[in-house]
Amino acid sequence: MYNEVCAFIHSLYPEKEFVPLHEPRFIGREKEYLCKAVDSTFVSSVGEYVNRFEEMVCDYTGAGYAVATVNGTAALHTALMVGGVRNGDEVLTQPLTFVATANAVSYCRARPVWPVFIDVDRDTMGMSAAALKTFLDNNTEQTTSDCRNKESGRRIAACLPMHTFGHPCRIEEITAICQERNINLIEDAAESLGSSRHGRQTGTFGRLGIYSFNGNKTITCGGGGVIVTDDEKLAARAKHLTTTAKMPHPYLYEHDAIGFNYRLPNINAALACAQLENLPRFIADKRQLAGEYRNFFKETAGISFVSEPESCRSNYWLNAVIMPDSTARDNLIKACAASNIMARPAWNLLPTMPIYAHCQTDEMANAVWLSERIVNLPSSVRL
Ligand SMILES: *Cc1c(COP(=O)(O)O)cnc(C)c1O
Repeated sequence: MYNEVCAFIHSLYPEKEFVPLHEPRFIGREKEYLCKAVDSTFVSSVGEYVNRFEEMVCDYTGAGYAVATVNGTAALHTALMVGGVRNGDEVLTQPLTFVATANAVSYCRARPVWPVFIDVDRDTMGMSAAALKTFLDNNTEQTTSDCRNKESGRRIAACLPMHTFGHPCRIEEITAICQERNINLIEDAAESLGSSRHGRQTGTFGRLGIYSFNGNKTITCGGGGVIVTDDEKLAARAKHLTTTAKMPHPYLYEHDAIGFNYRLPNINAALACAQLENLPRFIADKRQLAGEYRNFFKETAGISFVSEPESCRSNYWLNAVIMPDSTARDNLIKACAASNIMARPAWNLLPTMPIYAHCQTDEMANAVWLSERIVNLPSSVRL
């Protein structure tokens, strides 16, 4: 059966001897814009492509403001800082995510770091609204202004759900739970640019959201990220902090905070503009590819393809299947490797790593179940 899966994947990418998991496509105006950026001499953080990219992100997502950053991790760190997370606070996130989600939380405070890991749903693979509510009901108490963790006594400043592999999580329910308890909602939409729930784009439900433009994401500018928000003050604060907190002045260097050199260079923004122009076309192709996988796996006993959740439209950044158990998972990945196909398991759950082993978690039953069974399959846009 694994041989049939491999043959099918090769038939999706007939021109490829080796099929990678996800490779970028530069088939638009990338070279033209890059040359213009070089000719302008504005290659660093000031330049017309940075502004144009931010406007394009607002147009595409419907967000009010966008602030471009050097990468998605820097965008997350900045969003948490301007979103009200301070030294000593706690942030709720999910165990099934890329390590950057929790690292950005850790950057916000001195040791010890305090992400709390809340289980995911099996269907969305993102943070579970039900598990979030159960955790908050059982482990926190509400003061007049804050939500406090009864065990640690710390303030729960923010909730940071992630839209796994591009599939939207139950973000409206999570929004309502956070609003009720005065918890800032910040979305890690690094993987889900262009995905929506009830017609609204992921990344635009929270006070702030972020996207990544790393080389393996749906569109890329080498390295890059962006923060989106509808709050003008938060956007201004994010822009200030990412540009070394320099006060506007024609020539004096006055900095009113310890800021960061997190601004996206113009040369990367040139690439980002060209990529964003092709995003609708890329997503159309990825959705068609997902359809072909779905049809194929309908006939394959024991392997179930992960489809977009109800009421959602996914960008299908990375296609995923659920295997019967971890042995079957490993066997599929090995069969793919032997057939020159790159397939991958999900990330190790963050609290299983020594760097996050001290953190509080719930039972994480679904995250454990999924992490034993997920296989990501090649998902590059086809030419
Ligand atoms: C890619 C990714 C990031 C980080 O983005 P970089 O641009 O690589 O820094 C953060 N969170 C998640 C879930 C990601 O997949």
